[in-house]
Amino acid sequence: MKTNLLGYPRIGANRALKKASEKYWQGAISAEELNQVGEGIRKENWLLQQEVGIDMIPSNDFSFYDQVLDATMTYGSIPKRIAGIKKNKSDLDLYFAMARGLQQDGYDVTALEMTKWFDTNYHFLVPEFTKDQSFELYSTKAVDEFKEALSLEILTKPVLISPVTYLFLGKEKEGGFHRMDLLDKLMPIFFELLEQLISAGAKYVQLDEPCLALDLGDREKNAVKKLYSNIAEKYPQLNIILTNYFDCYGDNLEMVLQLPVSGLHLDLVRCHLQLDDILKSPYFDGKKILSLGLVDGRNVWMNNFEDSLVIVKNALEKVNTDNLWISGSCSFLHSPCDLDLEKNEENLPGNIKQWLAFAKQKVKELVVLKELVLYPKSEWAIRNLEENKRIFEARKYSKSIHHPLTKNRVNKLSSKDSKRHNVFQIRRAKQVKKLNLPLYPTTTIGSFPQTQEVRSWRGRLKKKEISLKEYNEFIKKETESTISFQEDIGLDVLVHGEFERNDMVEYFGERLNGFAFSSYGWVQSYGSRCVKPPIIFGDVYRSKPMTVKWTSFAQSLTKKPVKGMLTGPVTILQWSFVRNDQPRATTCKQIALAIRDEVKDLEQSGVNIIQIDEPAIREGLPLRQEHWDSYLNWAVESFRISSSGVEDSTQIHTHMCYSEFNDIIKNIADMDADVITIETSRSEMELLDAFVKFKYPNEIGPGVYDIHSARIPTEKEMELLLLKATELLPQENIWVNPDCGLKTRDWPETESALINLVNVAKKMRTLS
Ligand code: GLN
Ligand code: ZN
Repeated sequence: MKTNLLGYPRIGANRALKKASEKYWQGAISAEELNQVGEGIRKENWLLQQEVGIDMIPSNDFSFYDQVLDATMTYGSIPKRIAGIKKNKSDLDLYFAMARGLQQDGYDVTALEMTKWFDTNYHFLVPEFTKDQSFELYSTKAVDEFKEALSLEILTKPVLISPVTYLFLGKEKEGGFHRMDLLDKLMPIFFELLEQLISAGAKYVQLDEPCLALDLGDREKNAVKKLYSNIAEKYPQLNIILTNYFDCYGDNLEMVLQLPVSGLHLDLVRCHLQLDDILKSPYFDGKKILSLGLVDGRNVWMNNFEDSLVIVKNALEKVNTDNLWISGSCSFLHSPCDLDLEKNEENLPGNIKQWLAFAKQKVKELVVLKELVLYPKSEWAIRNLEENKRIFEARKYSKSIHHPLTKNRVNKLSSKDSKRHNVFQIRRAKQVKKLNLPLYPTTTIGSFPQTQEVRSWRGRLKKKEISLKEYNEFIKKETESTISFQEDIGLDVLVHGEFERNDMVEYFGERLNGFAFSSYGWVQSYGSRCVKPPIIFGDVYRSKPMTVKWTSFAQSLTKKPVKGMLTGPVTILQWSFVRNDQPRATTCKQIALAIRDEVKDLEQSGVNIIQIDEPAIREGLPLRQEHWDSYLNWAVESFRISSSGVEDSTQIHTHMCYSEFNDIIKNIADMDADVITIETSRSEMELLDAFVKFKYPNEIGPGVYDIHSARIPTEKEMELLLLKATELLPQENIWVNPDCGLKTRDWPETESALINLVNVAKKMRTLS
């Protein structure tokens, strides 16, 4: 029996890689210095894994930016627009140019597109393919890192993204071909790489094939069959571990079981039922290695050893110990690094810390599990098991988790709690009367520039350099001047600006019960960007209002309506580490009830328009379509619970960005927000099509300018977009607003852009 590690975080426990890469990009350190930091992290990780006792230690799981981009370098599929850089720049600079674009030394190239890695919050750089695409073994990083580990006397298992998944994740940049057809050209290059690894001494290769967690067509299935039979034929001595994660093999299973590979990895956290399917299958003879993904790589909770042992014992009925590996569900890239760094009791109380395991602790869990299976009488293992049982027992009955009132409220939820009093048409009439807004009402999405100064005040408060009173004075001034700015330029529905908020989830997490915060629990989101998601450990409830003070203060400054600004339950859930001792749906409904209370309090305080942001609704969609309905049901219900406690005359807005709506438009309509604002400007209003086709009945604010860029939109271009929208939608349904919040912008461009936006809305009114 072996312990098998799929991958380890590479940013370094103190985000050393983030800091070093950013310095390199600024020109503050040399390439050599950056390389040394990378080498240091790799060495530290390998030595740690070796010391703890991992058998299958991964290599090539390190990356300076992204593992898919590494594959692009490996296979030499460098887009033509960027390849010119090779002449004068190093490979490292070429690599970063693909990741981040390059506007320097006479170059002006755009980066590769970035998109989410399956349903994680990690983003990868999308490979680009052309019809005449050629490949070459351009980088031998995987071989170099294998040798680097060997020089430390560690025989590793190189981790490679399979050519099939690599092609699958890419995009055709022109018509007339399908990217999967490039496999024949890519395979020889991949084989060159395998040959180099074999001659360097590699015995096992982890071939990551996560596209098997999706619904695949025949084209992809055939590509999989072709690839693996070719590998087996050419390199019979090499052990390929086919590695899929994030969901079951599903209906790919029968094919997968017939592939000539040495082993299969199973994500048993996301999908524990597939083990039984495999053990029962006539295609499984018990001779393949099964790598059991037992330790959750996507969450922060300690493994329940008793539960895991039941699974292992089940597998042992059909597979002997030599062929059974103990593993994480997926790479630990998606977990924070090291729980031992957490010393701040205020943020992460000791009793909760006990329940957690970050990457370093998870590595140890793999070893303990193996020991428990092989040597059930080992004193060390028994001690670990007993301690584990004790902790789970304590967690189960802990007072800090359970809030009976909240559980009761969720149990008692009925359909009337997720329904407004009346249908939209009736509500609309009452809202029109109360709000008295012009045609093409103008508004913004919530945040105004979070300038260096705003952030420095928050930093100083945290370090206790200023008092809370001083801080509040400052926020007050910012809010005041933002309200008067919005009045001066003539916006119709104002916002308070969100100056008091660090982040749209963290702000609410800090004010809700059931949330804890790590100090160093960083997870790579993309490149050098890391996020530190809050940890939902217990029943979520609200003990007092969270936003009423600042919103009603802002409302007291103006006669125009100020829109209250909240983050929705699904987004709060989606951007946190979520407890695993109850269904996600239940946790989401608890959050929904807390937001519902806040919505009612805002209404009570005289706020007539309330926006509940749900930018993460779409990204919560399960990988396989068969699970969509069940998710969408509770997600939409949660939003409705949060928004349905108010009078007809109170106008509920929601906001979504970076989303495509076509396949979920019915569910979005079901959310029944009076107004939805969406990001549409970059797609030239294409994203509106879904709403138009569906005849979406409620009001819509299609974003008229891109807030990701400092560029000031002209009146003309916004007018064109609004004219387009007017052709598509009833004009009394149309709102005028930017694509998203303005927190990443500076004031000068914000001022000019919004002045133009108001002018355009005024012009549209005269045209109608
Ligand atoms: N209200 C938030 C803001 O304006 C919305 C952010 C988002 O959609 N990501 O910043
Ligand atoms: Zn947005």
